[in-house]
Amino acid sequence: MRFSWKMFLYTYIMIVLSFSLGGFMIIEAAFFNNIQAKEENLIENNNNLCSTYLTMLALDEKLGTNMAIPYRNNLYQDTEDTRVYIGAMGLVEGYDKEFFNQNVQTGKRYVRMIERDGKRCLQVILRDDRMGNYTCVETLESVEDLYEGRDENYRQFQVILLVVSGMGAVFLWLMSIHLTIPLKRLADTAKKIGSGDFTIRAKENHSSLEVRVLTEEFNKMAGYVESYVEELKEENRRREEFVGNFTHELKTPLTSVIGYADLLRSYELDGEKRRQFAEYIYKEGIRLEALALHLLNLLVLRKEEFELCEITAKYFFHELKEQLFFLLEKYECRLELEVEDGIFLGESDLLKTLLYNLVDNGCKAMQEEHRERERKITIYGKKEDGCYRICVEDLGRGIAPEEIKKITEAFYMVDKSRARTMGGAGLGLALCKQIAEIHHSTLEIESKQGEGSRFSIALAQAGEEKHE
Ligand code: ADP
Repeated sequence: MRFSWKMFLYTYIMIVLSFSLGGFMIIEAAFFNNIQAKEENLIENNNNLCSTYLTMLALDEKLGTNMAIPYRNNLYQDTEDTRVYIGAMGLVEGYDKEFFNQNVQTGKRYVRMIERDGKRCLQVILRDDRMGNYTCVETLESVEDLYEGRDENYRQFQVILLVVSGMGAVFLWLMSIHLTIPLKRLADTAKKIGSGDFTIRAKENHSSLEVRVLTEEFNKMAGYVESYVEELKEENRRREEFVGNFTHELKTPLTSVIGYADLLRSYELDGEKRRQFAEYIYKEGIRLEALALHLLNLLVLRKEEFELCEITAKYFFHELKEQLFFLLEKYECRLELEVEDGIFLGESDLLKTLLYNLVDNGCKAMQEEHRERERKITIYGKKEDGCYRICVEDLGRGIAPEEIKKITEAFYMVDKSRARTMGGAGLGLALCKQIAEIHHSTLEIESKQGEGSRFSIALAQAGEEKHE
């Protein structure tokens, strides 16, 4: 059942019930009061008659007059609606010997409701044996008009109830529709979101606080869902791109290797050609090996949890320098170290891999023919604001501003053919970025085309060095 229907029905039933009950109680209370007033009136009458009759009896006895009997006879009244009687108890209306003997005692008043000629009457009987044995005063009056009045009130109330409940129904129906409109709108919006339109939001300008809060929270939730779905899409896109790039990077060297190997086995080639083709195969093999290694590293880094240890800058850079020796020799580059003493938190092997990659990239960036500038890589190590920053600076060709954001993506190469001839597959900086993330840091890149680049990472300082 619809919420608006439920709300309407429950409220309507409750209002009609409470209105009916209220009306019933008011009518019954008024009726009860009227009956009581009538009863009091009859009792008062009865009392007066009794005391007057007793006085007359006393006077008759004292003065020898005869006033009581005529008074009693004059008083006697027996009409359709009333009866006034003073005399023997056996002649009162509705006399029942056994019952009267039991219940109507001298000096006691007895009030009851009896039916007389089809009319309900209130009867007050006062038995007082001072007036004579088994003598009583009876006052009786029909209360049929009070019952009719009550029935009339009920009839009027029914009409009022009908009108009020009709008007109330219309009002309640409009109200329940008005109150459930925002919920209906919210449900429509949820339906649209459910069918894939994550950009849609519910209108927030509602007058009632609860609906406003509900709408705000709903929109917040829709926002989260949208960004989460976007993230998933982006992740999916990246994965597809990664697989595509990977396949391509794998296929290119393999095609060359197969091609050159086929030439070598199919033809009788002279020594120089054979050496040249073998060199191609060797280089492509090296590239494939680097690709496999990088990929392996990327996968391992994603899965493994690393414990960061305290590393002393002095020893770390000393070991790094030794590790870089052959690389620098190969590219004929000079290394300059400008490092402060300090202790920082990190995973030594990963940091060395990162710096090795950065130095490797820097060296490659400086491999240009007719180069006049010096081939120099500078590694800085500086303490700043509670962290230890390591920078690798080169004087290479630099990176265009629009490329800077992309070069850390896997398989991204600025100049593909140049990168491939240098044995790259566009995975080095993706690996560096991941290593930086493992160190709760980011790989910051600054570069000026034609002048050089600077890659840096901030590591948390550790130990006493932090307070030096
Ligand atoms: P690769 O392993 O192919 O070198 P990277 O992920 O390390 O891949 O680098 C991506 C691209 O960024 C490279 O193709 C290169 O053109 C560019 N790049 C990286 N470092 C530098 C640098 N120091 N100077 C100029 N270009 C750079």
